[in-house]
Amino acid sequence: MSATVLSGKELTAAIRAETTAKAAELTAAGTPPKLAVVVATADESSAWYVRSIAKAATKVGITCDIVDLGPAASDMDIRHKLASLSVDESVHGVILQTPLPDGVNAQDVALSIALEKDIDGANPLSLGRLAAGLPAFAPATAEAVVRILDHHQIELTGRHVAVVGRSTVVGKPAAHLLLEKNATVTVCHSRTKDLAAVTSAADVVVAAVGRAGLVTAEHVAPGAVVVDVGTNPTDDGGLVGDVDAASVAEKAGALTPVPGGVGPVTTALLLQHTVQAAAR
Ligand code: NAP
Repeated sequence: MSATVLSGKELTAAIRAETTAKAAELTAAGTPPKLAVVVATADESSAWYVRSIAKAATKVGITCDIVDLGPAASDMDIRHKLASLSVDESVHGVILQTPLPDGVNAQDVALSIALEKDIDGANPLSLGRLAAGLPAFAPATAEAVVRILDHHQIELTGRHVAVVGRSTVVGKPAAHLLLEKNATVTVCHSRTKDLAAVTSAADVVVAAVGRAGLVTAEHVAPGAVVVDVGTNPTDDGGLVGDVDAASVAEKAGALTPVPGGVGPVTTALLLQHTVQAAAR
């Protein structure tokens, strides 16, 4: 058996097309959508990611300002910048790029992002609203997990989903979004005893761990659906997921690819959230 590939490409293209149309409409109506990405690191892979967001934004008609505060920025510098962007009427979406300088806590400073501009759900209050079932922007990666399953018509109601990872960026918000879809959700982490026993009892496994190939065939039930959120760089400049795709594809029913799965949907959703914020 070889698992069906749950590609993110078609969904990405559809979200981009909708966003492009909405951005053009907003611009014509005098509200050109703008995204600001606050950076406080010299990290090369972060710089690459930010450039890729800026490029994708330009393509759909969103202006993207990269606000580089430098790696020596203090907690106060970052808070002030996020607060001033939050009241700047020309800016509709604000992203706080990580990593941050040593000693700066991402969740503490993200409290300075206005909720209506928090298009990547970085403010802990956005996560709180999500957990309470109230309207809020979800972190784009977590939303991408649910959107890709929806797009491929994977039923979630009443099904058991095991999410591996409990970060506030992916695992926890994904668990809340999956609950909203009426799934029965188990959240696993580094202290989970016998991970394989838990995940192999699930209909759907979401891997958001940050360890290349951690989820192997022994972790999945025959025919299960597997969503690979992982983006682990390889020595040769490539990208691999948190799922050992070779062994899992022989046992699972369906699997998202890396690259070409959750990643591009995530970027498309960040831009969609920006036009949604501008439209309010
Ligand atoms: P993170 O903050 O490092 O969290 C990793 C989670 O995995 C933690 O909850 C940790 O448990 C758990 N974990 C670590 N080792 C484990 C093990 N052996 N067994 C079970 N659980 C284990 O990472 P993240 O930010 O959530 O990111 C997860 C992955 O998604 C990474 O590969 C990242 O690159 C990728 N990602 C992709 C996108 C995208 O756009 N595609 C965006 C963001 C992140 P504890 O809580 O107990 O430590």
